[in-house]
Amino acid sequence: MAKVALVTGGTRGIGRAISERLKADGFAVAANFAGNVDAARQCEEELGIKCYKFDVASFESTQEGLKQIESELGPVDVVVNNAGITRDAPFHKMTLEQWNEVISVDLTSAFNVTRQVWDGMRERNWGRIINISSINGQKGQFGQANYSAAKAGLIGFTKALAQEGAKKGITVNVVAPGYIDTDMVRAVPEKVLESIIGTIPVGRLGKAEEIASMCSYLSKDEAAFITGATMTVNGAQYIAG
Ligand code: NDP
Repeated sequence: MAKVALVTGGTRGIGRAISERLKADGFAVAANFAGNVDAARQCEEELGIKCYKFDVASFESTQEGLKQIESELGPVDVVVNNAGITRDAPFHKMTLEQWNEVISVDLTSAFNVTRQVWDGMRERNWGRIINISSINGQKGQFGQANYSAAKAGLIGFTKALAQEGAKKGITVNVVAPGYIDTDMVRAVPEKVLESIIGTIPVGRLGKAEEIASMCSYLSKDEAAFITGATMTVNGAQYIAG
C-alpha cells in the first residue's frame, strides 16, 4: 500500500509542486486548501490529486479534515506543513488582527495538523514532518514582524519535536525557502521585487519545484538521520550560521 502524504496549502504555488512531486514519488497525496476551489479543481483534474478543504488555523476544522483523509486514503505518514499567508505592515501600523491571522495560519496550523497525526506515527514507528518556514523567519524582515515570528516559531517547534520523535522513527525538519516564483511573491510590487532579486547571488527567484525536491528527499527512508534540521533553499541570499 502506498504511504499517505498530506500537503497543507497543497493546491497552489509551492504546495502544488510538493503535491505533484510526492505523487510522482509514489505517495497517495492529499492536498489541503482554504477556499480557492478553482485551484483545487485544477489540481484534481491536472494532477489527479485528491483535495480537501479545511482551515488549518482551526483545530476542529483540521480534525474533521484529517478524519476524512484517513478514512479515504489511510493513516497519514508524511505531513508537509506548507499553508501560509502574509499580512504585511510596518509594526507601528500592524493590527492585532494581522498579527493573530498570520500566527494562526503560519504557526498554530503546524500544531493543529501535526497533533492529529503524531500518535499514529508513534504507533507505526515511522513518520515525516516537514515544516515550510522562510528566509524571513531566519533573518527577520521589515514589515513582517508577524510572519517572521511565525516562521521562526516553526524552527523552534521543529527542533523540539525532532527530539520527541527521534526514537519513534519520526523525523521533523524545516525547509526554509528564499524568494520563490509564486502568487505570494508576484503580489510584491514590481520595483520591490526587482530589488529583492538584486540581493540573490544566484540572480533569480527560486522555483517551486526546487522546494519540492528538498521535501521529496526529506520524506524518503534514506533521510532517516536528518532530523531537527533547517534546510535552506535560497540561492545564497541568506547564509544562516
Ligand atoms: P500561495 O499563496 O501560492 O499558496 C498558499 C496555499 O496555502 C494555498 O493552497 C492556500 O489555499 C493555502 N492556505 C492559505 N491559508 C490556509 C488555511 N487557513 N487553511 C488551509 N490552507 C490555507 O503560497 P506559496 O506557495 O507562495 O507559499 C507556500 C508556503 O511557503 C507558505 O508557508 C509561505 O509562507 C512559504 N514561503 C513562500 C515563499 C515564496 O517566495 N513564495 C518564500 C518562503 C516561504 P487557497 O488556494 O484555498 O487559498
